Amino acid sequence: MSENCIFCKIASKQIPVEALYEDDNFIAFRDLAPQAPVHVLLIPKVHIETIMELSDPELMAGSIKAVQATAKALNLVEEGFRTVINCRENGGQTVYHLHFHLLGGRFMQWPPG
Ligand code: 5GP
Ligand code: ZN
Repeated sequence: MSENCIFCKIASKQIPVEALYEDDNFIAFRDLAPQAPVHVLLIPKVHIETIMELSDPELMAGSIKAVQATAKALNLVEEGFRTVINCRENGGQTVYHLHFHLLGGRFMQWPPG
């Protein structure tokens, strides 16, 4: 738990949240400012700043399993979806608690702007 980290507060349920997927190590909830009809954030419950600080093999494997489980829970598997991890300034990261965006419900353009 990192002081003043909004996602730590969500993970610990200090801030109430509707969990769309949850397991021992991860929780998924809707993005405050959705960029697609479905826009969900999946976060580890422990505070990890960016993908570059993710080193625990159990969490590494668990994160991909959790992306899969979240996509299934949201019914995104057949139509497809995009998962995004922004890292630091050039990646456009604004919240420094690792999170996977899951975006779906419309076609995603490539390349990103
Ligand atoms: P980033 O730009 O760091 O990849 O993404 C951060 C995301 O967190 C943004 O899409 C933003 O809308 C979302 N966000 C920021 N604060 C909150 C919050 O308090 N609650 C929720 N649900 N989403 C948030
Ligand atoms: Zn945090």
